[in-house]
Amino acid sequence: MILFALAFLLVGQVARVLFAAGQTYPAVILAPNGIVLAALILHGGKHWKYLWLAAFLNALLNNIPFFGAFIAALLYILQGAIGAAAFHLFKLDERLWRLRDTIGFCAIAITTSSILPAGGIMLIPLVSPDNQVSFAYWWLGHVISALVLTPLLIRGLSKQRAMPMPAQRTEIVIAFSLLILTDFFFWTKYPPEATLPFVLLQLGLFLWIALRMGMTYMSWASFISSVIFLTAPFYGFDRPEAGMMSERIASTEVYMAIFAILFYLLASVFEERNMAFASLRANIEELERTNEKIRQDDLKKSEFIAVLAHELRNPLVPITNHLQLMELNGIAETNFRPQTDGIKKQIRNITRLLEDLLDISRITQGKIDLKRERTDLRESIFHAAEAVQSFINSRNQTLAIKADTPVWTCGDPLRLEQIIVNLLNNAAKYTNPGGHIDLICETDATHAILIVRDNGIGICPEILPRIFDPFIQADNSITRTYGGLGIGLKLVKSLTEMHEGTVTAESEGLGKGSCFTVRLPLLETDNATERLLPLSVLTQVGLSRKILVVDDNQDVVQSLTELLKLLGHEVVSAFHGDQAVDVARTHKPSLVLLDIGLPGKSGYEVARLLRADLGQTATLIAVSGYGQEEDKLRSKEAGFDHHLTKPVNITDIQNALKLAG
Ligand code: ADP
Repeated sequence: MILFALAFLLVGQVARVLFAAGQTYPAVILAPNGIVLAALILHGGKHWKYLWLAAFLNALLNNIPFFGAFIAALLYILQGAIGAAAFHLFKLDERLWRLRDTIGFCAIAITTSSILPAGGIMLIPLVSPDNQVSFAYWWLGHVISALVLTPLLIRGLSKQRAMPMPAQRTEIVIAFSLLILTDFFFWTKYPPEATLPFVLLQLGLFLWIALRMGMTYMSWASFISSVIFLTAPFYGFDRPEAGMMSERIASTEVYMAIFAILFYLLASVFEERNMAFASLRANIEELERTNEKIRQDDLKKSEFIAVLAHELRNPLVPITNHLQLMELNGIAETNFRPQTDGIKKQIRNITRLLEDLLDISRITQGKIDLKRERTDLRESIFHAAEAVQSFINSRNQTLAIKADTPVWTCGDPLRLEQIIVNLLNNAAKYTNPGGHIDLICETDATHAILIVRDNGIGICPEILPRIFDPFIQADNSITRTYGGLGIGLKLVKSLTEMHEGTVTAESEGLGKGSCFTVRLPLLETDNATERLLPLSVLTQVGLSRKILVVDDNQDVVQSLTELLKLLGHEVVSAFHGDQAVDVARTHKPSLVLLDIGLPGKSGYEVARLLRADLGQTATLIAVSGYGQEEDKLRSKEAGFDHHLTKPVNITDIQNALKLAG
């Protein structure tokens, strides 16, 4: 505050010395009221006495009588205090970077600057009757001071950071050099016709500074220009005649005030715009970061689900094998038929759930490849119906299939079957015992239309639009009765869309049944009557082979060994890579069932060693929990002939034996 008081005194006295020749009251030309306003805006009124003292001394030095100086100093403080109070009342920002700050500030500068001149005009007759000052000139002087000095100070001394503007140092130096040069035009005796080009030049320079350098440089520009303009009548080459001085100063001040207000507004508009862009950019970056994090989390979740499903499938291998053993031994036919049937059913359920889980995570990771071929949709319908038939029977429901003519599409038959199985399974699950399900397959000009309709519990309208979202389950109490993860329909939708198809759900409400419609593009064919080859029929291979089974899971090895022995093969086994190589060297098997995830040497390394030892005399079959295309490719590169995905069942093994020849 003391510094502000000293600055006040300095400006006041500089004005007195500079403008002594003008025979006009100095405060009209370079009034220090802008300093008071800035001090009170920045620091409040706590140390106003220093300012008052400076104003009082300044007035005394300007030859104002003691009483007049006392009152004038008080008026300075009052004017500044009202201005500062209004500034804070309207919650203006001292950086003046928003349009509303600048408009508010300019309005305050113009209006409150009238307080001291008005008081002064009233007091002058009392304290200094000879002094002839017009209110308008005096007011103009104070307006210019507030407009020129206050922004420079409050913006420059504000503790808050201003928006960085695009201009570089060289650009600033060039712009200000040009501005100072043109400003001196005011000092010359210019002909009237040169006024317009001069004004345009000034406009251009101010525009440049306002838009590229912002409010700080704009307030410097108006300060520098004001000083040059206002010294022109006193020191320039075109001094006005004695009586015309006040008029000349006033017109200069009006010119300056208009320029200052106009370009402050422009500078703040651009600063506000830049600030908005910057915060928008920051928001977008933040959003992108959050998005990326969500994506990563989702990916991790999918990977976790894949690993979980994969790990959960492992124990199913020995269970399935043991069960098949029991069946082959005829145990299941005896007293335990209902139990083994129950176990088989539950294994099928768990396997299906795990398959769905794996598929969902594969789909979200974009890892599912369709093996598309020319296929009659009825084949998939037939297999799907076969797969769910026992479930439908167990619920005393009826399934009517209407698919009279071949419907050719280009699709992955297994995935198409999966779509239909899911829809049929749901229809049976969400229809009361004794209910009815229709499966209709028809075509229009371009599409195959597959309709699965039931007369079950229906879907309420609130859930219907979200029914294909993952983890959506209409009624937990019902779905919990039947289990399920709420991903079946999401899978249906994703697989259908991968076939360039669409799926929709309709229901008239609870208790009114549901209808799911899948539309798939028809394959254009000129031979519509062509039939698919009949499904491969499993054939038991009678040939006895020497088989090496390698797996670190003892249960898997044991159950598989027994199963293969029962099929008439000679079986040797190993639990890790090195042992497998040794056993193979001794027994020279013609077929090796080799687990990939072995401790120590991986299945791939073992396969390479076996290939080197046994050459092409043995068939190598990889048995892995991972069945993606890339996994199969890796197996092939390592020298495997075939790749089976866990849990391996008797059918897979028989097929593999058949393929091995
Ligand atoms: P899940 O059956 O495992 O819960 P889905 O994704 O297959 O998961 O189905 C999601 C939800 O849609 C189900 O929980 C059920 O509320 C509803 N739904 C699906 N199919 C039918 C249907 N045919 N009738 C009534 N509701 C159904």
